[in-house]
Amino acid sequence: MTIQLTNTLTRRKEPFVPADPSRVTMYVCGPTVYNYAHIGNMRPPVVFDVLFRLLRHTYGESAVLYARNYTDIDDRIIKLALESGQPMSAITEKFAKIYDEDTGALGVLTPTHQPRATENVDGMIKLIETLIANGSAYKVSTGVYFAVGSDEDYGKLSGRAQEDMQAGARVEGEDDKRHPSDFALWKTTLPGEPSWDAPFGAGRPGWHIECSAMIDAELGSPIDIHGGGLDLIFPHHENEIAQSESAHGHPLARVWMHNGFLTMDTTKMSKSLGNVITPRELLEQGWQGEVLRWALLSTHYRAPLDWTEELMKQAQASLDRLYGAVLRLRDVEAADVEAPAAFVAALQDDLNTAVAIAELSALATAANIAKKPADMAKAKGELLAAAKLFGVLQNDPEQWFRASFGEQAAEIDKLVAERVAARAAKNYAESDRLRDELAARGVEVMDSASGSTWRRKG
Ligand code: AMP
Ligand code: ZN
Repeated sequence: MTIQLTNTLTRRKEPFVPADPSRVTMYVCGPTVYNYAHIGNMRPPVVFDVLFRLLRHTYGESAVLYARNYTDIDDRIIKLALESGQPMSAITEKFAKIYDEDTGALGVLTPTHQPRATENVDGMIKLIETLIANGSAYKVSTGVYFAVGSDEDYGKLSGRAQEDMQAGARVEGEDDKRHPSDFALWKTTLPGEPSWDAPFGAGRPGWHIECSAMIDAELGSPIDIHGGGLDLIFPHHENEIAQSESAHGHPLARVWMHNGFLTMDTTKMSKSLGNVITPRELLEQGWQGEVLRWALLSTHYRAPLDWTEELMKQAQASLDRLYGAVLRLRDVEAADVEAPAAFVAALQDDLNTAVAIAELSALATAANIAKKPADMAKAKGELLAAAKLFGVLQNDPEQWFRASFGEQAAEIDKLVAERVAARAAKNYAESDRLRDELAARGVEVMDSASGSTWRRKG
């Protein structure tokens, strides 16, 4: 079976066929690095990390080029720098590092390329010059604008008609643009703002041109896959398409993918609404990174996902079951096998992570009931291979349960050691009493040739 992906551009689920299977390219719009990302902001990096892993599994690790940028030139960063008196770079470097730590905690692989807007301004200037030269853009006193009327295809991604886009398109400081829907490629420098020299006047780039230029620099268009959150379809991705395609005369990306929103009480999680929780806070509360990752993947990426305590508890319980199965087979050497076809097929079906999770659970069941050595080796190998493709089970199982029991873990360790001692002294009444006491705490002791360990009771 081939990979099927829902393409926002065609509004269909289609077989994914890369232009060159030895060089598969994907770009995902990254964070604006000026504050802490909330857990909703983690949905794109986690979802596209699963796709990155699936593509590498399919085409080979070195065949997949994945770029995810840092937006480090943006109105909000400039405002914060002016208000706080810090240089922009102090803010952006701090939050880029925090973003890397947060995504790393959630098991997100480092993309192949992580370009910064500030390192690609020359490419943006070149693109804008091309657009001015071919009549797609024009310069006025407040900046350079893309002339939406020059592009017959404008609106093809979002499905908006040009006439519908005019209302509300007025932006402060853009009063001399020719048409309300035209958007800024370059903004003339205002006092106190960062500025780059350009043939069309000193200024700074607009957000959309940043991504178009970084795609050119890192991957070259057309790329195979372009991704991001649902809120980026319009205007950001529509405008990326308009700029890149008007400059180059060929498609920017063949497949456009968008994840749905993370919500709280069915309202989009968003800084401006104040209903946010950050991965940092959740990790500090004791939730493990894989629990957050699992919770984010528990619903299909295109559907909305409501973030609740219950969701995290379910994710914790599912992962405990998987880790418990690995722990049961701790003395068994895993067979060197591929992730099972049914699990891979779930991911190939437009990243159906909910079905993939059900398959992982079935693999844990198989590992829990296997009795013959060959079956145990195979079950362990299959579970670990599938989990790796999903980006989970990357911790040591014993450490996992210690973390999962938090402050209680040390006491549990002590009770287990006492039970080992009681058994060694052939004091079976005491050993049974300790086993019952542990069971009452939700702990199952597991004895084997290599000693005793424990897991959460299933
Ligand atoms: P921003 O830093 O606001 O540009 O957002 C970074 C990424 O997070 C973009 O791809 C957004 O589409 C995505 N995003 C923002 N809020 C949410 C949310 N509540 N649920 C899912 N994705 C989101
Ligand atoms: Zn972008």
